Amino acid sequence: MTTFSATVPPLEQSRELRTAVPGPQSLALAARRTSAVAGGVSSSSPVYVARASGGVIEDVDGNRLIDLGSGIAVTSVGASAPEVVAAVARQSADFTHTCFMVSPYEEYVAVCEELGRLTPGSHAKRSMLVSSGAEAVENAVKIARRATGRDAVLVLDHAYHGRTNLTMAMTARAMPYKTGFGPFAGEVYRLPTSYPLRDPAGMTGEEAAARAIDVAERTVGADQVAALVVEPVQGEGGFVVPAPGFLPGLARWARAHGIVLVADEVQTGFARTGDMFASEHEGVVPDLLTLAKGIAGGLPLGAVTGRAELMDAVHPGGLGGTFGGNPVACAAALASFEIYRRDDLPAAARAIEATVVPRLRALAAEVPAVAEVRGRGAMLAVELTRPGTLEPDRAAAAQVAAACLSSGVLVLTCGTWGNVLRLLPPLVIDHALLDDALGVLEDALRALPR
Ligand SMILES: *Cc1c(COP(=O)(O)O)cnc(C)c1O
Repeated sequence: MTTFSATVPPLEQSRELRTAVPGPQSLALAARRTSAVAGGVSSSSPVYVARASGGVIEDVDGNRLIDLGSGIAVTSVGASAPEVVAAVARQSADFTHTCFMVSPYEEYVAVCEELGRLTPGSHAKRSMLVSSGAEAVENAVKIARRATGRDAVLVLDHAYHGRTNLTMAMTARAMPYKTGFGPFAGEVYRLPTSYPLRDPAGMTGEEAAARAIDVAERTVGADQVAALVVEPVQGEGGFVVPAPGFLPGLARWARAHGIVLVADEVQTGFARTGDMFASEHEGVVPDLLTLAKGIAGGLPLGAVTGRAELMDAVHPGGLGGTFGGNPVACAAALASFEIYRRDDLPAAARAIEATVVPRLRALAAEVPAVAEVRGRGAMLAVELTRPGTLEPDRAAAAQVAAACLSSGVLVLTCGTWGNVLRLLPPLVIDHALLDDALGVLEDALRALPR
């Protein structure tokens, strides 16, 4: 593997700006893009990438930016981890595709074996592989419906589950995800979630769970429900960490009523929150998990992993897809699993939290627009509001992200109101680089109007 990576000089792990951001080459590509790429596909930063590694993205103008986004929690092991690069090269030289539904191969089976070992719970498990997070969620719902013989799907307020027709219905936010794209799939019902900053003061997780269950029982009926789909920490919705007791409360209710509990760990999975899976934090064992993003070092792969009796309830041929479990993506996943284990990346995520959270909490005392610093592991967020209120301040989040970008730090936003800054550094980020990025972020936050 070193022979392959040695052909490319390593990317220096430091921030350096050679031009304004975006530079002239990025601007030229932006102009080409306008007449070729559909306008509905947007990018949160105008910088075109030449290379990326560790915590650094080098753009086409030779600027080195610090990456606090990991391509939305994907490149946790780095964007060009040598082991992943070597596995991809090796596998693609052997074969790039046969279609597992036509001519199967070991890599698919090996990924499913590993997912059975890595995910919470010691029960018998089975997995199926797909190519995206939305596809994983779609399949989890298919499996839950087939296994229970019921139709209804429960989701939470502020949820994000994808952009396909069913997952748009499951996603909460209209703009930009749903507006004008209906009609949506039926039998999807939304429950209130636990959002400690915005819930009544002192509301416990158990009370928030009871509030959600009450809506489900009154408006749907537990005996109609195939699946309850939850993000253990909400992603696009604002990195909302539910109050302790919320997820266990929902899990107990689901179990008591034969409802399949699906943890959508597409964003939270694979060490991101400081545990291998975020469900583990409160000892919740989901019936099914949906996985993607961090699974394969940047290669497109998704999975549904769960209880054997549910997964095997589907008739042969009922699940699949041409590209699902592509062998190159599987090889990348197997190399990534090795890195998660060998380098103890859950511990790396906890170390990132230990560095970032105290600094941002100290700053929150100085900057009244910071309503909350929250998150777990390396999935951290700053919610911005108009000082002294809970009124979301989307413009402030946009201003901070833009200021960071022009100083060479890539920061994403999220949240139902777009007013949340989210930090998702690669778990392998160098801590000197992280410190440098935090300094830039702190300056940008201090510059907000008081
Ligand atoms: C990103 C995301 C999805 C959708 O994944 P895609 O690969 O973009 O289809 C689904 N659920 C959650 C929680 C996500 O964060």
